[in-house]
Amino acid sequence: MMNSAIVKQEITNPAENEMQVLQIIQAALEGIDMDALTSMTPGLEQSSRQDAINSLLATKKVAISQAPGGVLRLKVNTSEQIAGTEEEQVIYGLIEESKTRGIWIKELRDGSGLNQLQLKKTLKSLETKKLVKTIKAVGTTRKCYILFNMEPDMSLTGGTFYSDQQLDSELINTLISVCGSYASSRRKHAIDENPNNIQMQREASYIRPQEIAQFITEKRVLNVPLSLEDLERILEVAVLDGTIERRADGKIRACPPRSCISPLVSVPCSVCPVVEDCRPGYVISPQSCQYMKNWLAEL
Ligand code: SF4
Repeated sequence: MMNSAIVKQEITNPAENEMQVLQIIQAALEGIDMDALTSMTPGLEQSSRQDAINSLLATKKVAISQAPGGVLRLKVNTSEQIAGTEEEQVIYGLIEESKTRGIWIKELRDGSGLNQLQLKKTLKSLETKKLVKTIKAVGTTRKCYILFNMEPDMSLTGGTFYSDQQLDSELINTLISVCGSYASSRRKHAIDENPNNIQMQREASYIRPQEIAQFITEKRVLNVPLSLEDLERILEVAVLDGTIERRADGKIRACPPRSCISPLVSVPCSVCPVVEDCRPGYVISPQSCQYMKNWLAEL
């Protein structure tokens, strides 16, 4: 009897009630709705639970937001505290949570429960205070909000190859051309350096994409840094264009210049004055023939 009286007294202590509620909210990383919180605090009267929540909200230890479907959820408040109204803090928190992906107006309305007018007014105020900014996502008319000092991620800007939300095809063509020229010069160099060794010509003509990235950086072809990932996207286009080819280890090399004429037409033997004397293993043979080596190297 005495024990149950002590327990009753402990669980109706406002500070302990608050701590109990806070611990449950802290354990729920995605937040917790009111029904779940009620079922996890069976020892609390409705009024005691509500007092604990109100106190946690007032001291900004937790924040309330509206999940899709209108369910209210309580979460630990990890938002930076700003000088502003309660509405501004809620909207700022939602935008902060979206990080570099940004959040669009419908999600802000659903998450905050504010009506259109309140939301517009709050966003205007946050923009005026230079706490948030808008970004137009590439390929859409959708306007996203992100924190003022945050750089939007590639899904919003489109990355290096987009300029003012437009695909910069001139830049892409320039980079494809630079990659092709660099690979061609390496292929030519490989042939010049190994005139009698087709295998070496082939091997030395392959280059790692990192070499091209380094060349582009050193020559300052771009004003912005080009990541290896961006370069790989350019090389993929060049492979589809047929200007370069890639082998299984990721190295690439320039394809021979395109010709609509079959290479067989240019085989040197067709105009060779000693073709009658040329036999494998003879003094005049395809193995020792420089014309044949040059022709094979061009394939
Ligand atoms: S391999 Fe060389 S030498 Fe022999 S027929 Fe062809 S071009 Fe002439």
